[in-house]
Amino acid sequence: MDMKRIVIKIGTSSLTYSSGQLNYRHIENMTNVICDIKNMGHEIVLVSSGASGVGMGKLELNKKPEQSAKRRALAASGQSGLMAMYENFFGRYHCKVAQVLLTKSVMTDKEKAESITRSFEEMFNYGVLPIVNENDVIASDNKNSGDMFGDNDTLSASVAAFIKADVLVIWSDIDGLYTKNPRSNPDAEFIPIVHGVTEEIYKMAGGAGSKVGTGGMLTKLNAAVIANNAGVDMIIANSSKPELLYDLAEGKPVGTLFKA
Ligand code: GLU
Repeated sequence: MDMKRIVIKIGTSSLTYSSGQLNYRHIENMTNVICDIKNMGHEIVLVSSGASGVGMGKLELNKKPEQSAKRRALAASGQSGLMAMYENFFGRYHCKVAQVLLTKSVMTDKEKAESITRSFEEMFNYGVLPIVNENDVIASDNKNSGDMFGDNDTLSASVAAFIKADVLVIWSDIDGLYTKNPRSNPDAEFIPIVHGVTEEIYKMAGGAGSKVGTGGMLTKLNAAVIANNAGVDMIIANSSKPELLYDLAEGKPVGTLFKA
């Protein structure tokens, strides 16, 4: 079996119920399969959202604050809770985790980018599982500063490109890409493979999304463009079926494949 370098992106809607509370069954199943796949010898990076989601539970808020400094404080409060949760769940399988917080500008700065690359290599050497999120606390107030990813779909694609992953798996609450939104169109057809994200593909994505996460299908297509341009295959698969990762490791078709 070929050893693969796999980046997996988990969104807030895969980690929580629509109530905002953690979905422990989901988290348990996902962490179990990730550890198992890692034990097979694959190199895994997890890109996880959920800082704001966990922060809302922690600070007892029922909606995200408008003010950006408050949002950063929320993400800061939630990020430590998110990592504590991962330490606990991954620890059950003796899987060691590390926290990596990134912004766009550090990934485009040559010197910092080299440090980040070397850090990832050493984390792989130590056998730890890097868990990445955007460093929401230092993201600029200025929306035009260009320093914010703003969504973890594009962050995960940039990470996958950065570490030259073999494949990026974006876990979603849907099986993959359909010709139309399958929730409102029963005649929507599933698309197993996409060779190049065209205007037509963008039209199919419409505006599907959930209320807890940031990204919809649109940000996933943007992610596919970033990943594919860097020569990385991307897959959208259903997070409620984490065992699909076994099929992926065996080279079987999974979800919608965006072929680089
Ligand atoms: N970085 C944000 C968080 O952890 C999530 C961004 C996203 O949902 O894509 O709360």
